[in-house]
Amino acid sequence: MHSEDINFAKNARLNAYSPYSNFQVGAALRTKSGKVYLGCNIENHGIQGLCAERTAFAKALSEGEKEFESITIVGSPMGKEIIEECMPCGYCRQFISEFVDRNFKIYIVGKDNSIKEFTISELLPYSFKL
Ligand code: ZN
Repeated sequence: MHSEDINFAKNARLNAYSPYSNFQVGAALRTKSGKVYLGCNIENHGIQGLCAERTAFAKALSEGEKEFESITIVGSPMGKEIIEECMPCGYCRQFISEFVDRNFKIYIVGKDNSIKEFTISELLPYSFKL
């Protein structure tokens, strides 16, 4: 765990566009080469918005990144400093599983910077495959 990723994700969440949920989520996606890509949730009126995790992956993948180490996720109600544990949704779990190996780490930040650590295979033991 790279502890600076907590602050990266906290800062990224401040860019969230979340007028519908009033909940801000930030993600810091770390590549195996040590680069960090940030994401936030981006909601939308009528159609499925983007979660912070998928935003970060889209940025990294579109820059040519292929090897990923971990993602750190921070969530809080709009305008508050209270961090609430924010587990990836089912869509994000399936999306992430496409691009990582089974030991890819997912760090969920909670109160007082507590960390819960999972691998993608723990969060999605039986992923869909064509
Ligand atoms: Zn999601």
